[in-house]
Amino acid sequence: MVLDKLGSSLKNTLAKIAKSMFVDERIINELVKDIQKALLQADVNVKLVFELTNSIKKRALAEKTPAGVSQREYLIKIVYEELVKFLGGEKNEIVIDKTKKPFKIMMIGLNGSGKTTTIGKIARYYSNRGFKVAAIGLDVHRPAAPLQLQQICDKIKVQCFIDEKEKNALKIYKKFEKDFKDYDLLIIDTAGRDALSEDLVKEITELNNYIKANENLLVISADIGQTAQKQAESFHNSCGVNGVIVSKLDGTAKGGGALSACAVTKAPIKFIGIGEKPEDIEVFNPKGFVGRLLGMGDLEALLEKAREAIDENTAEDLGKKMLKGDFNFLDLYEQMSAMSKMGPLSKIVEMIPGFGGAKIPKEMLDGQEGKLKKWKHMMQSMTKEELEDPEIITKDRIERIAKGSGCTATEVRELLKQYKETKKMMKMLGGSEDPTKLMKKFKGKMSKGFGA
Ligand code: GDP
Ligand code: MG
Repeated sequence: MVLDKLGSSLKNTLAKIAKSMFVDERIINELVKDIQKALLQADVNVKLVFELTNSIKKRALAEKTPAGVSQREYLIKIVYEELVKFLGGEKNEIVIDKTKKPFKIMMIGLNGSGKTTTIGKIARYYSNRGFKVAAIGLDVHRPAAPLQLQQICDKIKVQCFIDEKEKNALKIYKKFEKDFKDYDLLIIDTAGRDALSEDLVKEITELNNYIKANENLLVISADIGQTAQKQAESFHNSCGVNGVIVSKLDGTAKGGGALSACAVTKAPIKFIGIGEKPEDIEVFNPKGFVGRLLGMGDLEALLEKAREAIDENTAEDLGKKMLKGDFNFLDLYEQMSAMSKMGPLSKIVEMIPGFGGAKIPKEMLDGQEGKLKKWKHMMQSMTKEELEDPEIITKDRIERIAKGSGCTATEVRELLKQYKETKKMMKMLGGSEDPTKLMKKFKGKMSKGFGA
């Protein structure tokens, strides 16, 4: 697997989150530290690492977890989204314009970066998708270069134009130019150097001026790690690169550095090379890439497990509301059903500090299930306004609700009474202690009580 070491460190980190009972600042700090360690080991630039983990932390602390999602899931979602953004966000696929005849892709890059090999991969990729593809060899510096390209093209049955005797790249191009119109896509191989030299820039510029390729793709070997940024930037500035292909991601632990370094340049990563064979190429899609890196498949199973535990968000949000005394029917109902999932209400109440000795109406604790069902029916017969502000429910409304829910008016009054009493009690309790502190204690008791 590509970047398997980085992948497994990140997976372990997220597994820790998925298994943790509650998400708090301590867990977030731990997560951030783990991610930093994993990325630094993959040769990601320190500054980039800190930028990334800062935004993860900022979001994790500031954003409110939406309803129906646990804090754990939401935190993992943030990490996923930030990593995707970190690697460039949306995928940047090359769209071959068939009317160009041919659409031209020119490969540039240093010696040994993988230009010629990548041409075989891209040629195969597009010819498998119904495009008529040809390649042309303009590397006039390395003696064996034209033959290497020819052999690669033969293997995938793609037309190859070479002239082993000619030492002027532009002349070779012009020689075959009349034949290009038969193809949808022409891929141009060029010569590299050991470093980006004036000589190379001059040669590429000359070719650029005449050929005017639709895409100038820079091939960078992943094993150079974070220095890829400088290389991508200097090629971009001197040769006008509009996309990068990061090759040899299969053979290095520094790939995270190369990918993130390229992602911050103005030239997006279009493909990644993951082996020596023609099929070892992928369109670079940050979403899919990060998903696989984090093992979203495995993660989903983990999250499923986490979901089985108590939904601490519902408990916390409603708890706060209840203690402040500003909860309504919907909250009450949700709270009751959340609690009934945890076990008998009388047991839960014992575990809540401060609640143990409180005089909770006996009706609230007895015959919970049946009552909940009736409540649900009554609440379904209420309007939104009534649910949000039960105080407005007076005589006429009571009768309407009773009729609609198949209950008696007395039962509706009972519900209203219960609501008012609970509200009063919660307000009293809330006033005695800071609700957030109380919830923290509540959480501690719960995790001990349920051993999750
Ligand atoms: P060029 O000088 O830029 O044309 O580079 P080449 O295409 O000749 O490739 C140089 C070496 O890198 C060759 O041995 C290729 O087989 C190897 N190579 C290229 N791309 C990949 C890749 O994605 N993975 C691996 N493992 N090797 C690669
Ligand atoms: Mg080559």
